[in-house]
Amino acid sequence: MSAPSVLPSLAELADGLADGRFSAVELAQACLHRIASSRLNAFIDVKPELTLEQARAADSRLAAGERGPLLGVPIAHKDIFVTRGWRSTAGSRMLADYVSPFDATVVERLAAAGAVCLGKTNCDEFAMGGSNENSHFGPVHNPWDPAAISGGSSGGSAAAVAADLVPAATGTDTGGSVRQPAAMCGVTGIKPTYGRVSRYGMIAFASSLDQAGAFGRSADDCARLLGVMAGFDRRDSTSVERPAEDFGRDLGRDLAGLRVGVPAEFFGDGLDGEVRAAIDAAIAVLGRLGADVRPISLPRTRLAIPAYYVIAPAEASSNLSRFDGVRYGHRATGYRDLADMYARTRAEGFGAEVKRRILIGTYVLSHGYYDAYYLKAQQLRRLIADDFQRAFGEVDVIAGPVSPTVAWDIGAQTDDPVRNYLADVYTLPASLAGLPGLSVPCGFGGAQGRRPIGLQLIGNYFSEARLLGVGHRFQQETDWHRRRAGEV
Ligand code: GLN
Repeated sequence: MSAPSVLPSLAELADGLADGRFSAVELAQACLHRIASSRLNAFIDVKPELTLEQARAADSRLAAGERGPLLGVPIAHKDIFVTRGWRSTAGSRMLADYVSPFDATVVERLAAAGAVCLGKTNCDEFAMGGSNENSHFGPVHNPWDPAAISGGSSGGSAAAVAADLVPAATGTDTGGSVRQPAAMCGVTGIKPTYGRVSRYGMIAFASSLDQAGAFGRSADDCARLLGVMAGFDRRDSTSVERPAEDFGRDLGRDLAGLRVGVPAEFFGDGLDGEVRAAIDAAIAVLGRLGADVRPISLPRTRLAIPAYYVIAPAEASSNLSRFDGVRYGHRATGYRDLADMYARTRAEGFGAEVKRRILIGTYVLSHGYYDAYYLKAQQLRRLIADDFQRAFGEVDVIAGPVSPTVAWDIGAQTDDPVRNYLADVYTLPASLAGLPGLSVPCGFGGAQGRRPIGLQLIGNYFSEARLLGVGHRFQQETDWHRRRAGEV
């Protein structure tokens, strides 16, 4: 028996493993082979011997009669989660050779469930970016068109799923980094409610926003992955204590009576015409399936970018102060004294975007500017969250675009950081409010119509199961998520 050449759903993989149609070792080998011949630059670290050791352990558990949704299923981790064995770089020169002495909670939970780790995926440095061009290890190419970005910051995970290198992968989303690369690579991605998944062992960017999420082919796959990842962790003080949940419980539910809100502010001037047409068509599908689609308003949407780009850099400047060349990571040589060692280490270890954010963050937190910038941004954050609560008085789910455009060409806007920030306009509001968001493939645009488009569904706190149910119903009706990029 051998592993399938195109990766099927996680449900089919679990069945195939349980029936003995293929083994975890065969599956892992098939994926490792595809990763080795891929030119997408989706992976930063691959260690076949470690992967195969985990696969053999999964095969023993299967042979002993154990069953589980992810037992023997290969996955990959964004290189923001620390792992024993594989390097944990955060896409940075600062941590290029760093190996963690412990596993992140997400890594630990997936390993305990028998998922087999294929390695660490490329990402923007410290998850700062939306195009994966800020990685010390180079950009990730989009499997649909290698000239295009993969989206970021979890670009390696999204591209690896889209190219069938892995069936599913983890990611992190601070301001859109799961939803946006999912949209641009034509896969499904969920960013859960803040606090739903432990941040322990996730290399910190902006702690009040960072949240782990999942990539898969479908809403069903994401529900399976999230089911294992989520849960209270006493090692993360912001992790929420709630009973375990079956995130697949609404997958069979129909949409009759579901109130879907379409915010006018998500369809303004900056939205590309092709993206708009695809989103309109996707929302029309929800309507045909019985949803009650209504216009709503999220009036503070335009304040999300300025609020986020004060709060996130402020937290980043504080979180990244730990990289000083003393405790771990890169250390400069040839320094004069301690202060010079710090300065040279950080000058060499961090890339341009990270430095830009440390400068902005230090500035907005400094005496005399704190009230004008940081405090003001926190007030805006509250107003943005209030907009959502008003909207959720009228509707169950909010639908709109993930990104205003399809993936752009690699290198096309690297000189213009603000232009990159503007691409976050539709993902930042839910991040600032701490709400869950799902991206499902809903069309194509761009040159030769080859660049994917994602529909964003935002729900109220802890409504992941409902969002996944809506995404699943949409995917029963459409085949965007079944199309394959082909390029590896
Ligand atoms: N693009 C946003 C930023 O650059 C979001 C990144 C993220 O979610 N990690 O900060």
